[in-house]
Amino acid sequence: MWKRTRNVYRECLKLIPHTKFSIWLLAAQCEIRQLNLTGARKILGNAIGNAPKDKIFKKYIEIELQLVNIDRCRPIKPITICMIGAGGFIGSHLCEKLMKETPHTVLALDVYDEDKISALDGYDDKIKHLLEPYTVEWKGRLQFHRINIKDGDSRFEELIKKADLTINLAATCTPAPAERNTRTRDTIYSNFMDAVPIVKCCSENKKRLIHFSTSDVYGETIGSYLPKDDPLREDTSFSVLKEDMSPCILGSIGNIRWAYACAQQLTERLIYAAFAGPENSLEYTIVRPFNWIGPRMDFIPGIDGSSNGVPRVLAYHLIREEPLKLVDGGESRRTFIYIDDAIEAILLMIENPERANGHIFNVGNPNNEVTVRQLAEMMAEVYAKVSGGEAIENPTVDVSSKEIYGKGYEDSHKGIPDTTIINRQLGWNPTTSLWDLLESTLTYQHRTYAEAVRNEQIEENKQKLRQRSERKDKKRQKKNKDKMTEFAAQKKVDKSNATKKNQANRSKGTGKKGENVAIEDDKY
Ligand code: NAD
Repeated sequence: MWKRTRNVYRECLKLIPHTKFSIWLLAAQCEIRQLNLTGARKILGNAIGNAPKDKIFKKYIEIELQLVNIDRCRPIKPITICMIGAGGFIGSHLCEKLMKETPHTVLALDVYDEDKISALDGYDDKIKHLLEPYTVEWKGRLQFHRINIKDGDSRFEELIKKADLTINLAATCTPAPAERNTRTRDTIYSNFMDAVPIVKCCSENKKRLIHFSTSDVYGETIGSYLPKDDPLREDTSFSVLKEDMSPCILGSIGNIRWAYACAQQLTERLIYAAFAGPENSLEYTIVRPFNWIGPRMDFIPGIDGSSNGVPRVLAYHLIREEPLKLVDGGESRRTFIYIDDAIEAILLMIENPERANGHIFNVGNPNNEVTVRQLAEMMAEVYAKVSGGEAIENPTVDVSSKEIYGKGYEDSHKGIPDTTIINRQLGWNPTTSLWDLLESTLTYQHRTYAEAVRNEQIEENKQKLRQRSERKDKKRQKKNKDKMTEFAAQKKVDKSNATKKNQANRSKGTGKKGENVAIEDDKY
């Protein structure tokens, strides 16, 4: 399989202008993974020859250091990995990498979620392409188990025992407003209670654990507690987050947005206790992801699965040519990392236990820092490029957090990952720029969703027209009914007036019985 990867890189090197450094770097990494150091050096040498830019020199030196530092060139011993939550965004990329570029076996676990299952074959869409029968290269190395770890289904323990390493990705973590507000308890259960038996099982059976936590555990930064006009607020020493030094500051209990962070923080503390306690020795690594972006990150109800599913969307509104909603002005600052860079970090953790165990690693790209507003504007620009359409004139619209998330919303205004520890331990550095990662992700989004979204819009418009005409019909019917009721009431009044008049006439001895009534009746 790796030969195919190598061929793809070689073709890319011919096609893509040599100023696109990342392709040279990726091609070199691919050779290193196959222990072909000469090949890697040749590629980088060519890159330097074609584009003698600082970035290439820097990377060349980094790779040399990495080779010396972490001995990536020893033969990789195949291991078995129990991956819980393998059917999600990160799991699908990790499985793909492990199947295509390593000899490891993966016991992949995920919950049966009707909303997310492709109706055709019963697999989660995100790893369907790895499980289909035609992918024979890794047949037998990827086994899928449909298990919900929260149902007291202890089969997952057997899989942990069978494996050398467990990677826990399972969590309710969608930032969808409805989830955070209505499923706070589920979020706590999923991110803490469900992780407890995994930690316990790994600990008791002396199995290594890589647990996925979140950058949210840092909570608010110290800087955000300073007055808005305090110049220190922008001082990076208040917002650069360090795994072993930064405090984890979470808002009050009523701010339910912090429940997810709090549950994950408690899981981290449990893992640490299982490692550091007197008779414990859990071999662990904790990953704190900072906004990983890439293909397959979305779940669009009605397109990716049932329309009851919980949405998770990056570019949905852009595809619909609608402005992106900016919560509270979009002034919060964030960093974004491309999924391929992040997965490379996880692979280094998997293959270098002696350097990864006992560490918490921030996995983010501090160079890709922007305000959410800048991100939205860049997304609109990139999407116009990849879709070949016009950029939306007003790409953003301001909304209040209360409107989107309801009461109890709070967010950190800035958070930049410090990557010193992961760089020191694993020689890892992300390379993909924000523009490049958006271009690659939005190209995927456009190819995957544009047509379905257009059909959905046509259907929506038809539905709107139907509803409008139904509303009109109802209005007309109501108007007719009201008219009839009014006439009937009038008729009653007239009848009673006529009766009164007849009676009066009779008592006066004039007029004919029933005459006026008959005349009035003619009106109807
Ligand atoms: P995801 O929602 O795409 O994947 C999680 C997977 O876990 C899903 O397929 C889900 O079905 C599965 N799962 C949930 N509960 C389960 C259960 N009870 N039994 C079995 N499977 C279960 O999320 P992701 O983006 O792949 O993230 C993976 C982990 O990384 C999560 O813990 C998340 O909190 C953390 N994380 C991710 C990001 C990011 O940028 N993607 C950021 C911060 C933290």
